[in-house]
Amino acid sequence: MAQLAPELMEKNKLELAPYHRFTVEGRTYAVTIDRFRCTRLDDRTAAFLAAWESDPGVRPEDDVRSVLLKIGLLAADPGKTCPDEASRLERDCRAAGKWLGTDAARTDTLCLMVAQECNMACVYCYGSAGTYGGGGLMTEETARRSVDWLIRHSGGNQKLALSFFGGEPLLNLPVIRSTVAYAQETGEKNGKTFMFSMTTNASLVDAAIIDFLRTNRFTLIISFDGTPAAQNEHRPLKDGRSSHAAVAPRIKELLAAFPDACGRATLYGATDPAEVLAAMKEIGFRSCHLVAASGCLLTDAPSEKALFQREEERAADFRRGAAAFVAAVKRRDPAEAAQLIKDRELSRIISVANGPFQVRRLFFCGAGRNYLAVDVDGSLYPCHRFVGMREYRLGNISEAEDPPRGVFHQTPVSENGECRQCWLRYMCGGGCAYGNIASTGRPLRPDPAFCRQYGQTMEALLDAAGQLTAEDREFLYENNVVARPSCPLDF
Ligand code: SF4
Ligand code: SF4
Repeated sequence: MAQLAPELMEKNKLELAPYHRFTVEGRTYAVTIDRFRCTRLDDRTAAFLAAWESDPGVRPEDDVRSVLLKIGLLAADPGKTCPDEASRLERDCRAAGKWLGTDAARTDTLCLMVAQECNMACVYCYGSAGTYGGGGLMTEETARRSVDWLIRHSGGNQKLALSFFGGEPLLNLPVIRSTVAYAQETGEKNGKTFMFSMTTNASLVDAAIIDFLRTNRFTLIISFDGTPAAQNEHRPLKDGRSSHAAVAPRIKELLAAFPDACGRATLYGATDPAEVLAAMKEIGFRSCHLVAASGCLLTDAPSEKALFQREEERAADFRRGAAAFVAAVKRRDPAEAAQLIKDRELSRIISVANGPFQVRRLFFCGAGRNYLAVDVDGSLYPCHRFVGMREYRLGNISEAEDPPRGVFHQTPVSENGECRQCWLRYMCGGGCAYGNIASTGRPLRPDPAFCRQYGQTMEALLDAAGQLTAEDREFLYENNVVARPSCPLDF
């Protein structure tokens, strides 16, 4: 590695595109921040980058220089590695503004809080026992006007979605039935098609309901905490009785009709994620989503309190899952690889393996943009979790105008110092606004715990992806373990 004389160093500082370097079990990678292109480094390039990070005056030997050029860290034209901070922020604000003016940012999905009531009393409920500080059932009239509102404000979007939510939405089954019929009929007249989904605790399901859901091709999310201990302790029925025995047979009936329904378990306290996952699989879920509990902002001030205490253990389990996935691919075991992808939510391995990305992510989710929630009175909120937080109420479906979305039309990627400097900014988009408020009191100020976990997860994913060869990926596509990307712009 060559070293310049001190007086020449400042003038000749080597300019590299922003990158993040990390090592997992002896394998070192560099990922470019602007396009999220990840490359496993040879020892000499890794050593050079480590040296350059403490002394930008060092110069690479020719072989290392070629690698830096090839992996996008060094521009062939000096001074053109990446826009400076001010130009980059301007570029991102411009891109966000442009995107917000397209149909993709117009509302295409409404979450209808058809029942702000629940027949369970989950200890971790962020909706204050399902009431969201209010309570009641949505009327047929409000639900219909919500459908009209969505059609009116959806711009050129032809595919629209209604998500029935609560509390427990099946407490208001008649309104769900009539709203589905109304949306189909009105949609057809207006050149729009509707998709329906519902999140349910399954306690009220019967054969007639299953038939209705199947006829209307619902996508289902079933809230269930897996083990009898977790389900009974954290999700008791409202009258205090245990719920596992009451819901388990109904979940099995639902899964017989909807084998791909997603099981959503909330991790709370000292719950063991591995035990929960095993129990979810035993009852028959093929697809599971385990999420740590978040605080209830309707009753609690933002706090640091640990609602789930085994996050580190969970991160370790994720890393073990990613390693097991790579091993399954190498020994050409498609069934095991497919199962691990579903169990550990590893599907992004392939998308990160197919980087660099053409599209930079500027928002974490659709909240306050293409996705809104409507409460029982017709008030509009950025998403289901915000319902009842009056300071975040956006408007009402009775008003003619599409309400301004305020802070939800600002991208955290350029609005706060943490995301502006973060290596994950274009992969993450700024985190969950509700989680941010729970942690820091502000929707655009990220939750440090989330950022730490997201970083650990992404490094594990990138490491796993970095071990897959082109032949490995072909094996995954040919065996339908993952879908072959249809478009180079897919994110
Ligand atoms: S929320 Fe955290 S991980 Fe995401 S971009 Fe911001 S700082 Fe990075
Ligand atoms: S803000 Fe958070 S809770 Fe709301 S839709 Fe986005 S990720 Fe989900």
